[in-house]
Amino acid sequence: MIKDLFHKNRPVYSLEVFPPKQDTDITSIYDSLDQFKELHPHFISVTYGAGGTTSENTFAIASYIQNQCGIEALTHLTCAAIPDKLFLTNFLTNLYRNGIRNILGLRGDQPRGMSDEQFASRYYAHASDLIADIKSTYPFSVAGACYPEVHQEAASLEEDIAHLKIKADQGVDFLITQLFYDNETFYRFLDKARNTGIDIPVLPGLMPIVSAGQVRNIIELSGCAIPEKLRRAIDKYKDSPADLKKAGLDYTKEQMEDLLARGVDGIHLYSMNKVETAKYIFD
Ligand code: FAD
Repeated sequence: MIKDLFHKNRPVYSLEVFPPKQDTDITSIYDSLDQFKELHPHFISVTYGAGGTTSENTFAIASYIQNQCGIEALTHLTCAAIPDKLFLTNFLTNLYRNGIRNILGLRGDQPRGMSDEQFASRYYAHASDLIADIKSTYPFSVAGACYPEVHQEAASLEEDIAHLKIKADQGVDFLITQLFYDNETFYRFLDKARNTGIDIPVLPGLMPIVSAGQVRNIIELSGCAIPEKLRRAIDKYKDSPADLKKAGLDYTKEQMEDLLARGVDGIHLYSMNKVETAKYIFD
């Protein structure tokens, strides 16, 4: 189980993949996973569509990671896609019977096509509610999400961390952060979390910028800040994709070196099915 790795294998290195679009051949991701395997990550996580559309593929990919690649799989699961306790129990049983012992319990955002009323009346209001039920159903190693730059719905870092403490108290074994590019923000967040009594491992999440188009998406989806140094590199190489990619990867490498020098619990790389990116960073 992943939670045990933090005692034996610190720093823990992990990757993240997402199920291909529904009309795409799922086997393409298996080729990528066979290559990810060569990098010997400690675990690979698989995202889950907030509305549950990826459910089967998330499960199939997690199963491939765990049983074919022999690497710990971490399956994401979102509250927004869970209609009742029976659904959760069936989903967990399926994972458990297939040897998967790790789950990232998330609230998820309002899926496209779901009305405000439907989203507001979801079965589990917060990730901590879902996590409490996971913990009482099977002995999974359970992860939670956290936000060094504050979750967009929280009024302040203090409020967000107070909510995070509830999640930790429900038995979360470790946390993975939202991606960030400014390590100082992460250190401030970690200090506050530790001072609040959150003492479980925290994996900083890093995502290299490898193209100019990616920048807008990253800001829109995660709301994270781009530090001046990185912004200058992006501007400088905006007409030279190869140089931009190298600058983005080198920035992440520097970020990672600084984090490791400060003794972080590990690194979670938002590799998002990009084998070349993961290879560059892991090398
Ligand atoms: P929560 O922990 O429930 O927090 C959400 C908000 O509610 C925060 O503002 C928090 O302060 C507040 N809150 C929490 N608990 C309470 C409480 N008890 N009372 C009052 N307020 C409270 N999304 C996907 O759809 N699929 C994925 O696979 C996916 N993977 C992710 C992986 C990582 C590592 C991260 C960081 C995010 C991921 N997300 C994913 C996005 C995530 O679903 C969204 O950021 C979502 O908005 C919040 O999810 P959460 O689990 O952090 O929610």
